[in-house]
Amino acid sequence: MEQRGECAVVGAGIIGVCIAYELVKRGIHTVLIDKDEPGKGASYGNSGAISPASVAPLAMPGVLASVPSMLGHPDSPLFLPWRYLPRALPWLARFVWASRPSAVEKSAVRLAEVHQHAVSLHEALAREVGAPEVILKRGHLHLYPNDRALNGDRASWHLRERHGISFTRLERSSILDLEPHAPEGYRVGIYLEDQATLRNPFRYLQAIFRKFIDGGGQFIQANVRSLKNNGSSGWMLDTSVGAIDTQNIVVAAGAWSRHLLRPLGIQLPLETQRGYHVQFRNNNPPVSRTVVLTDHKTFFTPMEDGLRVGGTVEFAGLKAAPNPHRADILVRIAKNAFPELEGQPYDTWMGHRPCMPDSVPVIGQSEKLPGLWLAVGHGHLGLTDSVGTAITIADGMLRARGQTPDGV
Ligand SMILES: Cc1cc2nc3c(=O)[nH]c(=O)nc-3n(C[C@H](O)[C@H](O)[C@H](O)COP(=O)(O)OP(=O)(O)OC[C@H]3O[C@@H](n4cnc5c(N)ncnc54)[C@H](O)[C@@H]3O)c2cc1C
Repeated sequence: MEQRGECAVVGAGIIGVCIAYELVKRGIHTVLIDKDEPGKGASYGNSGAISPASVAPLAMPGVLASVPSMLGHPDSPLFLPWRYLPRALPWLARFVWASRPSAVEKSAVRLAEVHQHAVSLHEALAREVGAPEVILKRGHLHLYPNDRALNGDRASWHLRERHGISFTRLERSSILDLEPHAPEGYRVGIYLEDQATLRNPFRYLQAIFRKFIDGGGQFIQANVRSLKNNGSSGWMLDTSVGAIDTQNIVVAAGAWSRHLLRPLGIQLPLETQRGYHVQFRNNNPPVSRTVVLTDHKTFFTPMEDGLRVGGTVEFAGLKAAPNPHRADILVRIAKNAFPELEGQPYDTWMGHRPCMPDSVPVIGQSEKLPGLWLAVGHGHLGLTDSVGTAITIADGMLRARGQTPDGV
């Protein structure tokens, strides 16, 4: 099979699907390629939080002190098994380096730019693809056991404040006004009224994908083995179903992108942070909005089909099988917080967050290799940033064609 197109997007996660749809809308003939069904990577089971307020990178000053506690402690919210340490070391070194105050300030500025208008962009897209009901606008509630615990996170809340993000500190009684079933033991809360939640990230992605196909886009299910630069005649993708010729390639292959880019001389410090979810099949979730138990770094989301409990970070690479113990930890946390979940059926899932050491995704055209576009490394916030990323890539591609982004 030989295909020709103006643009090939590699990876049909939320980033690739949003880009492919945006390109087709702008009149760019686009082929979207994935080795699996669209949306079955990290984008399938995330916590659905649209969190433009998350301008604080993961590597905050003082993070070095927390690294030893992740090592070998299988119950820790961040888990790095000893056997994976040699593989993770170069990334961890960059992660610690990214926690310098000056680097944190820079990352926060960039993250604020990338997250800009995330809630309104998702609202508009959800309407456009016929799924407005998937967006829940009830804010996010972060719960802390006490002021001492809140104080431990003060650097990231100060950073948000400096970026103009508004939030309210709540005492227990106001927490209960918002969430009557809020677990006991959480005396202090921070409420971010302007954040939103996607109540079914997979159904949303499927709706965008359908619009892409209806708009004339093409999907090919194939493994992309390599990318070849043919100079002025464009690019060639070697895939499991044949070659694809194209003028532009967008690499949006999530945590797998590093392997596709390395042979081209692009060395991205991209590491998978494996996250898990437990999806209870009760359709009467005990929370009515995204609730974060900050001491466990765990998100509770009222999804369309029941409560989803998501979180944990595990460093173990792309190939190791999911570790059932990580999901068991989430089940335990959930049942401790909401005893009514005892005996409820649930499913578990693991996905690969594509993480850069400074938490800042790489979005745009390669400086060295024209026609190669990167939309990679969205880490813990790829759902939040998907629509904004798509607009940035589409604007850039139109500019490279000599058009202004609004198509004039
Ligand atoms: C537990 C958990 C909770 C999360 N919660 C949130 C949240 O609440 N809010 C938020 O904003 N973000 C959240 N995230 C992060 C978010 O899910 C990711 O940042 C986002 O899904 C990344 O999207 P992506 O399209 O880059 O990657 P993916 O969804 O992983 O898609 C990459 C695609 O590329 C394909 N691919 C890879 N290599 C090849 C190849 N060689 N050939 C063909 N296809 C290929 C894969 O099959 C896959 O479909 C969470 C993540 C996890 C794991």
